[in-house]
Amino acid sequence: MNATRTPVADIPLAAAQGSAAPAASRTATAASTAACASTPALTRLGEVRHDWTTAEVEALFALPFSDLLFQAQQVHRLHHAPNTVQMSTLLSIKTGACPEDCAYCPQSVRWSTGLEREQLLAVTEVRERAAAAKAAGATRFCMGAAWRSPKPRDLELVAAMIREVRALGMESCATLGMLTPPQAQQLKDAGLDYYNHNIDTSPEFYDKIITTRDFQDRLDTLEAVRDAGLKTCCGGIVGMGETVRDRARMLQTLANLPQHPESVPINQLVAVPGTPLADAAKVDPFDFVRTIAVARLTMPASTVRLSAGREQMSDELQALAFLAGANSIFYGEKLLTTGNPDVERDRALLQRLGINGQDVVLEHDDTADEACGHDHGHGHNGHASAGHGHDAGAARA
Ligand code: SF4
Repeated sequence: MNATRTPVADIPLAAAQGSAAPAASRTATAASTAACASTPALTRLGEVRHDWTTAEVEALFALPFSDLLFQAQQVHRLHHAPNTVQMSTLLSIKTGACPEDCAYCPQSVRWSTGLEREQLLAVTEVRERAAAAKAAGATRFCMGAAWRSPKPRDLELVAAMIREVRALGMESCATLGMLTPPQAQQLKDAGLDYYNHNIDTSPEFYDKIITTRDFQDRLDTLEAVRDAGLKTCCGGIVGMGETVRDRARMLQTLANLPQHPESVPINQLVAVPGTPLADAAKVDPFDFVRTIAVARLTMPASTVRLSAGREQMSDELQALAFLAGANSIFYGEKLLTTGNPDVERDRALLQRLGINGQDVVLEHDDTADEACGHDHGHGHNGHASAGHGHDAGAARA
């Protein structure tokens, strides 16, 4: 997935445009491409690389909006099928009473948000919800639990849930908080495909949002997850009062990891009353789309997930996000504790845009083979949250 591709700058124009364009159009496109190519950050676009500088990422954010989207859409088509999105359904398997203090999250025990706590769901209920999600068209089932880190008994039950999801022929994703290397391995052994663990924001802004853990804790769990052979789902939140530089630093951090996260959820803050960010200023929709586009350019082969906050977005804004390179959404159910556009609205929007859902082919895995005998292949992306991935009203998932 992270194979190096031909940089956009080296692609003949006709190929980049997909078909023969009128001469005037080609000339205009050539001029735009030439102008962009003079920006140092754009000389290696399309290449999967891990040496991004902050200045390069900031230069992408500074591009004229149309130039940025044009470049992002070209890079998108180098690595992904156009007009295709992956669809996941997210279920909160344990809700509320989390000891962490993430400022965006209604599940923190420290904020009075009126959220009703729920114990860990039974394995049978999770299986039923996953089957319903599959029947509605989801190919991946994501399970989020509001824990700082899972206890041994909890992890055994989550492992049983993962086996049930895989037995349905769906990809599985979990977001359970911080993991040690043996815990990550236990989840891998159960057949887990993805682990969601967001970095949320830049290293510099992190302690303005969370004080009960530090940025390095996130990186340590991500390393444990990668080392266990799990795919990573890792992104962040836009709209928490961060600067453009913070957004650039967040994406630079992700792009310079030893492996790009297979899935990069970009969340728009859902300002939940009772949380410290309840009155956060709304993000300019174009700035949100820019963040999606820069994620696409800095991590060309990754799935970029349009995540929390989608319910507040217009159809037009979602269409712009797809144009900028988003190719995954949460579908149906709830984004952990915050609402998600209903299934019918999503179906109608995708149909109006000519976008298809992506089929799932599960990776070869002995556990899944025994359980369901389905085909195996691969897929992408996981949550989209913020926090460790549970949605947080704000962003999780
Ligand atoms: S985002 Fe996750 S870790 Fe943070 S308070 Fe919410 S549930 Fe807890």
